[in-house]
Amino acid sequence: MIYFSLNNKNHRVNFREALFNGLAPDRGLYFPKSIIPLRKSFISNLSNYDKIEISLEVISQFIGNQIDEESLKKIIEHSIDFEFPLKKIEENISVLELFHGPSMAFKDVGARFTSRCLSHFIRRGYDRKVTVLVATSGDTGAAVASGFHRVEGVDVFILYPKNKISNIQERQISTFSDNIFPVEVDGTFDDCQKMVKDALIDKDLTSNFNFTTANSINISRWIPQTLYYFFAYCQLPPDIKKSSFSIPSGNYGNLFSAIVSKELGLPVENIISSNNINNPVERYFKSGIYTPMHSKETLSNAMDVGDPSNFKRVNKIFDLDLDKMRETIHAFSFTDYQTRDAIKDVLKNFKYICDPHGAIGYLGAKKYVGNNLGSHCIFLETAHYYKFFDEIKNVIGNEFNVPSQLASILNKEKNSVTVKDYIDFKDYINSNL
Ligand SMILES: *Cc1c(COP(=O)(O)O)cnc(C)c1O
Repeated sequence: MIYFSLNNKNHRVNFREALFNGLAPDRGLYFPKSIIPLRKSFISNLSNYDKIEISLEVISQFIGNQIDEESLKKIIEHSIDFEFPLKKIEENISVLELFHGPSMAFKDVGARFTSRCLSHFIRRGYDRKVTVLVATSGDTGAAVASGFHRVEGVDVFILYPKNKISNIQERQISTFSDNIFPVEVDGTFDDCQKMVKDALIDKDLTSNFNFTTANSINISRWIPQTLYYFFAYCQLPPDIKKSSFSIPSGNYGNLFSAIVSKELGLPVENIISSNNINNPVERYFKSGIYTPMHSKETLSNAMDVGDPSNFKRVNKIFDLDLDKMRETIHAFSFTDYQTRDAIKDVLKNFKYICDPHGAIGYLGAKKYVGNNLGSHCIFLETAHYYKFFDEIKNVIGNEFNVPSQLASILNKEKNSVTVKDYIDFKDYINSNL
């Protein structure tokens, strides 16, 4: 498979180069040259295949001949080594739970796939050892710490802002060691991001380190996420032939994957972009003018994104045609007040606990099936509610069971170093050369 840069279609690379580069040298996002629909007989018989068979069929074309089938199968087995259950919530609305991985948010699949793909090429001598730099405001760091831990050929520095992420998220990052270097930054998320950007172009460092990043712009994040939609379809009752998906969105990686699954031939009706008040896409659909926003803090903080990077890929897949995009995508946004009410209502009426992100997905699904009578909608539950215990305990009370993945980290020792500025950070990286 060939990928080109969205800034210059003549800049072309293969899967391996796109993976290691992250962004093209011209700062463009990589986009696949073609998306070839899967065999009809495969799509109509999905439930006869197991998860691994489905994954190989769906993903192979995006890797091309870069990774042999045997190795790709091992990478996939590891990346999706947990459940993706679909549960009925109410008439016409189901939930796809994506939080059964080790960090209990959907980003586990992408992080595990990315780390194994990088390691695959390094072990075969294609690339030098890499050092991954990630700035995080929570879930990405947690998934990356767990997904990259003890992966051969890769060191990871994870920068997070001191006192600005939840206690659980901090534990999920800072209790790792070995090849994981948790860095607590005395500053904001933007300071973390600035340090990463400065380091990536600092000649003193780049002469010694082979840097890359692992954020949601990397193709290795959206490629395995296309699987979620196929896994959901295999579990639909036979009388439901077509469904829509409501996707709680921030940087639009997941939503882009949903569109790719439709392009691959999955019979997806509509795709609902469900947002909190950070809603530049909904505004774009209404006004026809895309304006980035300054992000505002909300309960569903993994979606506090004012200018989603993957929306460029969404635009491209619709040939920048807004009317075409509106036929497939519907966009809705909801306030924190509505989010809390939704968590309460779903618990009361259906005995199901949503986290704030899933609750926004539920609200989008509810609105969509209300507008389109008789249609079915699946919303994504992107994180386990316990990760947001402090935010929602007022809404649902204290009667929680701590899930085992989170219980085990609560007693572990914190292992991060604190840095106050870039010079500090640079010294710290150098000391680990
Ligand atoms: C990252 C994240 C999102 C947003 O996903 P995008 O692919 O960036 O749109 C939603 N919910 C949770 C819990 C997340 O961690």
